[in-house]
Amino acid sequence: MLQGKTALVTGSTSGIGLGIAKALAKQGANIVLNGFGDVEGPKAEIAALGVKVAYHGADMSQAHEIEAMMKFAADTFGRVDILVNNAGIQHVAKVEDFPVERWDAIIAINLTSAFHATRLALPAMKAAKWGRIINVASIHGLVGSAEKSAYVAAKHGVVGLTKVTALENATTGVTCNAICPGWVLTPLVQKQVDAKAVAMGLSNEDAKKQLLREKEPSMQFTTPEELGELALFFCSAAGNNVRGAAWNMDGGWTAQ
Ligand code: NAD
Repeated sequence: MLQGKTALVTGSTSGIGLGIAKALAKQGANIVLNGFGDVEGPKAEIAALGVKVAYHGADMSQAHEIEAMMKFAADTFGRVDILVNNAGIQHVAKVEDFPVERWDAIIAINLTSAFHATRLALPAMKAAKWGRIINVASIHGLVGSAEKSAYVAAKHGVVGLTKVTALENATTGVTCNAICPGWVLTPLVQKQVDAKAVAMGLSNEDAKKQLLREKEPSMQFTTPEELGELALFFCSAAGNNVRGAAWNMDGGWTAQ
């Protein structure tokens, strides 16, 4: 379905980003990976799917590094057809205790990076008359949770940016939509499980159940593979007129 297309997924060395990159690669898209930590493992996983893979280590908190990454992607593969703005971090503290440096980092990485990558990707997508921008927001783009002020503010911002990008391109072949997952058991969430286990004196398994019980009626984590399938739907012909959606995959979190 995506042969000959190029997808750039930010924060794709781990978790949801890697899951979405693999789903796109399985459909034939060449992939530009980005993110920190182990790079060779994810690169090999994508290459094993029979597509071309490249990596750029841009720090998503730095506009000039995002510019270099977008230029690298265009130089390597000609153009970015599918942009997945996924890189994100979390910090948990009450507003009055929230470290200013963490606030700035979360807004930069979780929100402003999507603006930069989007503004840089749009001209070539519009010239090609086809493009897909998929923003990995969160259920926290739709509702709040205590002690997550920066994350909730950034993710609500991502949902707003998604709507405006979709509207500005509504008569073109470029769509922009947001994915809003509930809990996904990635390193980002495992840190919160660990903190809960310590705070409540629980085992790892009981801390996971507690986390789910508080928010997610299904009592199940969403998987990166399921989110990859949703990204594929946005890229399919059936997604041609899906514009500005904030699509939850949250086990019933926001149905309550
Ligand atoms: P993760 O920690 O497994 O992956 C985050 C990725 O972002 C990694 O590849 C990491 O290297 C990269 N990254 C972090 N800071 C970066 C920076 N400054 N520059 C470049 N890359 C950077 O986390 P995840 O759970 O897979 O999160 C991915 C996205 O999904 C985030 O935007 C997160 O907010 C969102 N999300 C996660 C959940 C969840 O339950 N895990 C739920 C809703 C939304």
